[in-house]
Amino acid sequence: MTPAAAIPATTWAIAHEALVATLRDLIRIPSINPPPAEAPDGETRVARYLAERLTALGLRPEVVEPVPGRGSVHARLRGDGTGGEPFLLLSHLDVVPASADRWSHDPFAADVADGYVYGRGAVDMKGMIALELGVIERLVEEARAAGLDPATDPIPGLRRDVLFTCTADEEAGSIDGARWIAAHRPDWLQAAGAVNECGGVSVTVGGRRLYPIQVAEKGFAPYRIHITGTWGHGSMPRADNAAVLAARAIERLAAPGAIRITPVMTRFLEAAADALPREAATVLRRIAAGELDAASADVAIDGLCDPMYARALRALIRDTISPDIVHAGVKYNVIPGDATIEVDCRVLPGTTEPQMRAEVERRLGPDLLPACEIELLVWGEPVESPAHGPLWDILVATLLDHDPDAIPLPVMVPFATDAKATATLGVPTYGFSPLRLDPDERFLERFHGVDERVSLEALRFGLPILYDVVRRFCG
Ligand SMILES: [Zn+2]
Repeated sequence: MTPAAAIPATTWAIAHEALVATLRDLIRIPSINPPPAEAPDGETRVARYLAERLTALGLRPEVVEPVPGRGSVHARLRGDGTGGEPFLLLSHLDVVPASADRWSHDPFAADVADGYVYGRGAVDMKGMIALELGVIERLVEEARAAGLDPATDPIPGLRRDVLFTCTADEEAGSIDGARWIAAHRPDWLQAAGAVNECGGVSVTVGGRRLYPIQVAEKGFAPYRIHITGTWGHGSMPRADNAAVLAARAIERLAAPGAIRITPVMTRFLEAAADALPREAATVLRRIAAGELDAASADVAIDGLCDPMYARALRALIRDTISPDIVHAGVKYNVIPGDATIEVDCRVLPGTTEPQMRAEVERRLGPDLLPACEIELLVWGEPVESPAHGPLWDILVATLLDHDPDAIPLPVMVPFATDAKATATLGVPTYGFSPLRLDPDERFLERFHGVDERVSLEALRFGLPILYDVVRRFCG
């Protein structure tokens, strides 16, 4: 019997309707990052909307705005203090831009169609904000039913405080959001553990329902590489044309590199192998054991799964380099003497920035390197939380209680989240926004993609799970 099972189904049905309404409200406030000139304060408007909702519940939320328009919001529910440090419900309230012409629904209308809520932020990550607020609302109602004031009294049954923190600027490196909060308002984040985006979402492979829970994420080291050639007349081609040198550099940098299986990915591959048919399992076990070289592993992965998952998996077993910006040239008949390329390097836990830079230099090679000046743009440390311990055990057990066929497993993600900021405070942060998806739903492509959407059924599944996780970890 889970804590959620003690609550009548009619109560959950009402809570679900409220959650969907919240999500639609959130989507209809475009909180685009980078903020567009015509709506520069979307994040603050979402933060204020949430603050109003929390105030209406009788709580005392706070909004910070380190830069005008870039608001974040926070509220705290009290436990009786006997259970240790708080539990953090973390989310970000900004979204990436969406170009409406390619969508089948207006990205900011929050249409409900075919059992889905459509809109930018549906999965990344206003759906999770709505789930978290839904849990806060349940806990507040339980306090009120016991005749308590939720702003000051401990919530019945909670031994730890519950923090609800919703940040700006996650989609652009968290500078004006979680990183600012970690430096100036660490009390908004300091916790024994946190749940955040990018995990706890079902992935159906070979008829089995896997639930990867994010415990680790890669670091990032984007570089700008200035390439120097010689200016000249286009009628007399030169070998040291900077555009030609840049093309050669890009070719070398973009080649897939060597593989390295980190402990989290070893566990992921072995757990996935246990769940999958024998042929796939054999491949995954050989990759986990380091028996395949990079080229053979890539071929094996491509034969194993959908290209969407294959791309992710190939990125999770190596440091990657993606050349994403190229600038050279001023006129068709002028040989460019300068070129600039920018490369997005993503590093596994255990790879340092100097090691990544050394790899970039090695790939450029002794012939190109003298023409290149390498500039680090920003560094983001990889993070890793333990895939064991009380919170991990609760996440796994709760998923199994609600979906007995669930196969929870730890995973790394190739991109960055606010977990980079909570890691600086030592808060173990798990990607766990519980959703049980239709087997054919191409969830990974919804992130930052066209027709971003989340199903009503997935949200209905997630709310009692998140409630149980809070009740169990704080009880
Ligand atoms: Zn996100």
